[in-house]
Amino acid sequence: MTAEISIRGVTRRFGAQAALDGVDLDVRPGELLALLGPSGSGKTTLLRIIAGLEWPDSGTVMFGGQDAMERHVRERGVGFVFQHYALFRHMTVFENVAFGLRVRPRAQRLPRAEIARRVHTLLNLVQLDWLADRYPNQLSGGQRQRVALARALAIEPRVLLLDEPFGALDAKVRKELRRWLRSLHENVKVTSVFVTHDQEEALELADRVVVMANGRIEQVGTPAEVYCTPASAFVHEFLGDTNRLECRVEGGRALLADGTPIGRAEDIMGSAIAYVRPHDVTLAPAADGPGIIRHVHAVGPLAQLVVELGGVEIDVAIPADSWARLGAGRGDRVAVTVQAGTLFPQRATRG
Ligand code: ATP
Repeated sequence: MTAEISIRGVTRRFGAQAALDGVDLDVRPGELLALLGPSGSGKTTLLRIIAGLEWPDSGTVMFGGQDAMERHVRERGVGFVFQHYALFRHMTVFENVAFGLRVRPRAQRLPRAEIARRVHTLLNLVQLDWLADRYPNQLSGGQRQRVALARALAIEPRVLLLDEPFGALDAKVRKELRRWLRSLHENVKVTSVFVTHDQEEALELADRVVVMANGRIEQVGTPAEVYCTPASAFVHEFLGDTNRLECRVEGGRALLADGTPIGRAEDIMGSAIAYVRPHDVTLAPAADGPGIIRHVHAVGPLAQLVVELGGVEIDVAIPADSWARLGAGRGDRVAVTVQAGTLFPQRATRG
């Protein structure tokens, strides 16, 4: 499959600092790709280079197999939605969405009736046709971003670029818009690149997630791949709740400081860091068990506990019914089974 966008060896420096450092990435036709990483990791710079708003110091950008480096933003067929990309305040919702179609060169311009038809189709798509005559200041933040999206789609872009489009909205609206954008994308299937620093947003929305740190790509994969098989300690820590446990590896087994085994470790020797998700720890009744329940928060479908094991405290999340069956409380001892999903060597050699 030819990549829609192909990025090779892209580096961008600002002074001594590399905002992007040798980035290679393929964006597949029709996918929704999330660029995920902490502040300053280079997400926006990469998006701007794809757009043609920023130029790399070295490396190449191809669109549909053709060199895009000579093509400026207007020639790349990209639609944008930014966090604070204000709509034109003096134009109605209808006029905002129609704008990109009205300013086309005369030869490419559609007849008036065709523009109106297309704008209404788009406003229906973003479920805002009933607000066509309102002005932006008469809309909620979420409605404004949906208009911005309709406006970006109006020119039938080859690629849609979204930079934290829901970043300024409150948590509840963000969540709604996230689901809504996902189903919109299923409908229109336009190749989309989405910047976010919110791991939940990336995991829920994207077909594939690109995890970035310090101007480099740490991992590219489906949400399940990056979450369940993180390629580095950074990816593991960045994607969701995790316990970071120091351990030593002996005879292929990872052991906590007091000797409690927490899983297999075939290819590591010496000391290691084990990353364990709270829901990968299970507890069983045992009056002389090695674990001691130190804290309990059992409201809702998950019981969240802190269990002391081998001198370290471990966050544990178990279903509320398992917690009820356990019949234990604060200060009680329990047997603990830890499935250390991923181990990374620490000052150790891989054997
Ligand atoms: P955020 O989530 O905070 O927007 P980001 O991952 O999008 O962060 P970038 O905005 O791409 O990161 O910035 C990457 C690095 O490059 C940062 O250290 C930033 O300070 C630097 N940088 C970006 N643009 C410029 C610029 N125009 N001038 C100088 N430094 C810049």
